[in-house]
Amino acid sequence: MILDLLFPNRCICCNRIIEPELLVCSLCFSQIHFTHFDYYKNNPVAEKCRLLFPVENAYALIQFEEESLSRKIIHELKYRSRQKTGKILAEWTIEHLDFKSPKPDLLVSVPLHPKKLMKRGYNQLHLFTETLSRFYEIPFSHDLIKRNQYSKAQALKDKEHRIESGNTFSITEAITGKHILLIDDVFTTGNTVSSIAWNILNAGDNKVSVLVMAMDV
Ligand SMILES: [Zn+2]
Repeated sequence: MILDLLFPNRCICCNRIIEPELLVCSLCFSQIHFTHFDYYKNNPVAEKCRLLFPVENAYALIQFEEESLSRKIIHELKYRSRQKTGKILAEWTIEHLDFKSPKPDLLVSVPLHPKKLMKRGYNQLHLFTETLSRFYEIPFSHDLIKRNQYSKAQALKDKEHRIESGNTFSITEAITGKHILLIDDVFTTGNTVSSIAWNILNAGDNKVSVLVMAMDV
């Protein structure tokens, strides 16, 4: 309480004092570019995914433009130790995203490289995923996918092989007959989600959908 008085929560855009649970003030909120993509077969993120792997549905919440407030929000989430940003982004997602039935069976977040995890101290996707899981009543797993660690020398040697086989990630348990919603923060090339999607698809008779906080446009 005293800390709140001494260091009130401020809008990350204009610095105005705002309620503790908010990220931006109501004026700046209007500057956020929500994608208005429906969670359905044909939207730009689904089309980009489809070039890389068979995707059921795909969704991106906001547009990740240069110098934009959206970029600031993702930066806040990833680099400023403001984990609550994940919860706020999940709440915005809930306002926009209506899963058409059938809903996915499992929410899976993209794992961080262990070194990054150590540095940051948290995976920025966990709180986001858990908040969605509670609201949509879909279980989540933070451990289904493991990011393989490589030494630098090995990474160089294996680079080509790794790109070919996509074994940056591996799946930790036998899974089949599931529709998995893969969750990441920013969609750029799609290589990360594609690599994980192929692990899931090759593991059994599974389906993959994708949900990203922001899409690079
Ligand atoms: Zn503001």
